[in-house]
Amino acid sequence: MLSPIAQRDFALAIVRKLRAAGFEAMWAGGCVRDRLLGLESKDYDVATSAAPEQIRTVFGRRRTLTIGAAFGVVTVLGPRAAGQIEVATFRTDAAYSDGRHPDSVAFTDAQHDAARRDFTINGLFFDPLSNEIIDYVGGQQDLKQRLVRAIGDPRLRFGEDKLRMLRAVRFAASFGFTIEDATLHAIQDMASEVTAVSAERIGMEIRRILVDPNRTIGLELLRATTLLPRILPEVAALDASAWGETMRVLSQLREPSLPLAMAALLSREQGVSDAASDLKLPAPGSAAHANDLGRRLRYTNKEIDRVAWLLTQLPIVKRARETRWPQLQRILIHDGAIELLALHEAIAGPDDMALVFCRERLAWPAERLNPPPLIDGSDLIRQGIPPGPRFAMLLEHVRDAQLEGTIHSRDEALALADRLIGQ
Ligand code: ATP
Ligand code: MG
Repeated sequence: MLSPIAQRDFALAIVRKLRAAGFEAMWAGGCVRDRLLGLESKDYDVATSAAPEQIRTVFGRRRTLTIGAAFGVVTVLGPRAAGQIEVATFRTDAAYSDGRHPDSVAFTDAQHDAARRDFTINGLFFDPLSNEIIDYVGGQQDLKQRLVRAIGDPRLRFGEDKLRMLRAVRFAASFGFTIEDATLHAIQDMASEVTAVSAERIGMEIRRILVDPNRTIGLELLRATTLLPRILPEVAALDASAWGETMRVLSQLREPSLPLAMAALLSREQGVSDAASDLKLPAPGSAAHANDLGRRLRYTNKEIDRVAWLLTQLPIVKRARETRWPQLQRILIHDGAIELLALHEAIAGPDDMALVFCRERLAWPAERLNPPPLIDGSDLIRQGIPPGPRFAMLLEHVRDAQLEGTIHSRDEALALADRLIGQ
C-alpha cells in the first residue's frame, strides 16, 4: 500500500537531491493544484532543468526507468510505501500533427514548461524547500476564482490535443469549477474533433467522470459542451424525462464501480428496460448497448459483462416478490448482487418492497440462502446417467426442487433425478 506521507517525503527528497546536484527542481502540475485546494495528491510530479541522462546519473541507473525518456520523463523508483515518481525535464512540445501526441519535444526552461501545460490550474510549480509557489500562468488566481482556463489560445491548445476538451470537463466537474468562457466556447466549437482521440484515452476520461462523486455535473457539462453525442450517443439520445431520471439515479450512487455507474447511465435508455419490465421480459436492448459502448471505450470484458448482467437482472429484481425463489436465489448469490441492489435502490428508493425483500433474503444464514447441493454430477454418473447436454438440466431441476423445499435429502434428490430421466 502506498502511503501519502511516504510519497510526499520521497517527492521532497527528489527535489533536494536534484538541487544539491546543481539543477532546478520543483513539484509541478496536478500535485501543486491539489495542495492549494487542500486535497491529498494521488501522485507527485517533479519538473527539473536536468536532462534525462543527468536525472539518471543523480538517482542511479538501477533506480530509474526510462520508458518516457524520449519525452523527457524519467521514472524514479522509491521505497515501497512511496512508489515511483515521474521526474520530467522542462520541455516544450513541438507540433501535434495528429492532434494527439507531440511530434517531438525540446528541452527548455520552467516558464516554457508551464506554458505547454493544458490549464492554468495545472500549470503551477511549487518549491517544497522554500514553500514558494511559482506561477507563470495565473493559475493561483484561477484557482481562487474556481475557473478552468486553457493556457494561451484555447483553440490552438485544443487543436494540439483534443483530449484536453474532456480533461477540461473532468477537472471542472470534479472540483466544482466553471469552465472559463473562451475555453468553453472553444470546446463547443471543436467538440466534433474529439473523435480524433484514441478510444482508450476517451474511455479513461469517461471512466473518471463516471466514478467521480460529481458525476452528474460531469455529464451535464458533456452535454452543454456538445461532447456527449460524440462519445456517448446512446445517452445523448435520451429524451428530457429519461435524461432527468438518469441523472437522478446516477446521483444516488455512492462510490460506484465503473460497471455500476455505467449500468445506471444506461438503465433508462430509450425506456427499453421499463417497457420490457411491463412485458415481463428482460431488457436485451440495454445489455446490447452496454456491450457496444463498453467495447467502444475499451473497457475490460469483465466490466462489460458486469454491466450487461446488471441491466439484464434489474427487471427481475424489480419483481423479486413475484419471482420463483430458485431464479432469485441465483441472482442473490452472484457476486454482483450487492451492486445490483444498489442500482435498484438508486432507482426505486430505500423503502421499495422488492428491495427490502431481497435484502432480507440476502441476510439469511449461508446454509439457508445457499445450501450445499444434495447431489452433483458424479452422483448421476454413479446412477448410470451418461454425461451430456441433459446433465446440467437435470442437476438444475434437482437444485430448483431443493431450493423450493420440495426435496430435502440425497435419496429424494436421486429419486427425483431417476424420475426426470424416465420422462
Ligand atoms: P490527475 O492526476 O488528478 O488527473 P493531473 O493534473 O495530475 O490530474 P495528469 O494527467 O497526471 O493530471 O498530468 C500531470 C500534469 O501534466 C498536468 O497537471 C498538466 O500540467 C500536464 N498535462 C497532462 N496531460 C496534459 C495534456 N493532455 N496537455 C497538456 N498538459 C497536460
Ligand atoms: Mg496526476
